[in-house]
Amino acid sequence: MNERLQKLSAWMKENGIDVCFLTSPDNVFYLSGYFTDPHERLLGLAVFQNEEPFLVLPAMEKNDALQSGWGHEIIGFTDTENPWEMVHNSVSKRLTNAAKIAIEKEHLNVERYEELMKLFPEAKQFVSAEEKMRSLRLIKDERELKAIREAAALADYAIEVGASEIKEGKTELEVLAAIEFELKKKGVSQMSFSTMVLTGQNAASPHGNPGQTKIKKGDFVLFDLGVVVDRYCSDITRTLAYGDISDKQKEIYDTVLKAELAAIEAVKPGTPCSTVDLAARSVITAAGYGEYFPHRLGHGLGINVHEYPSVTETNPLKLEEGMVFTIEPGIYVPGVAGVRIEDDVHVTASGLEILTKYPKELQIIK
Ligand code: MN
Ligand code: MN
Repeated sequence: MNERLQKLSAWMKENGIDVCFLTSPDNVFYLSGYFTDPHERLLGLAVFQNEEPFLVLPAMEKNDALQSGWGHEIIGFTDTENPWEMVHNSVSKRLTNAAKIAIEKEHLNVERYEELMKLFPEAKQFVSAEEKMRSLRLIKDERELKAIREAAALADYAIEVGASEIKEGKTELEVLAAIEFELKKKGVSQMSFSTMVLTGQNAASPHGNPGQTKIKKGDFVLFDLGVVVDRYCSDITRTLAYGDISDKQKEIYDTVLKAELAAIEAVKPGTPCSTVDLAARSVITAAGYGEYFPHRLGHGLGINVHEYPSVTETNPLKLEEGMVFTIEPGIYVPGVAGVRIEDDVHVTASGLEILTKYPKELQIIK
């Protein structure tokens, strides 16, 4: 078994868990090396304390799974077979009594949970595997870091393209399309989430929807996007000005930048997440904009664009070497302006590595 599976098995032994049945594509990928989106079909990875793990997936994907390097049993089911019976048979070959089963409670739907209860009437307890999976994924290894670094470099490039597309009268969607067109030419097949290009009043909403709004002089253009490389995500935000902006807009921009730099300054092993959040938040609050910064400072980044650690003002979790997360303070004043600056950072032994490198000083496109 690979090192990740061994760690999960060790946790199962400590907690007396007989079977761990994982169903989310992200966690199955993390442990098996095989990624697939099975849509409505079943995808599962069963892990045991000592016995051999197995994958269950649609038969048509069996070959892909084999080629991904998975060296253990694969159960492929056709559209006319009942995959649950096959799961039960394979578990029964390994165990006589599955009394305690770990599942992903946030992912496994009720129908599937009922299916499992029927198959394993001896199961007395269903516990959550999510917390353990989050902590396994929290520290990134060299291969994961390499993918995130590449994804971050492509995100920088995407902002560069976006900046060159800022012109009077262009719509948010036109600029967005140009960015994604250029990325696809570079071989990017997937974004971390729906790309955001927001201007004018739309930028004053932390989660706006790009549309037909046209860029005009005196407005900010906010880009929030990410690129997926080898299944790992990046996430960057830059806010650029088009034409001359007001003193108030400048003050908001300067405050966000000062806050972002203060948070970066605070990152090193041993510092609690809360301290990093508060380093930025206190700058924004002192400038009088506290109520206009309505979200946490940042989130972990990896296979999922939002994972652990959660960088909030109350999270006591201490930073450790190998964690990767975003720093993204923002100020959104309805009717005035919205500014957010977001970088991806990696905690190192001595401090941090900033993965996204596009310049942050106020850029005014003429
Ligand atoms: Mn973002
Ligand atoms: Mn983010």
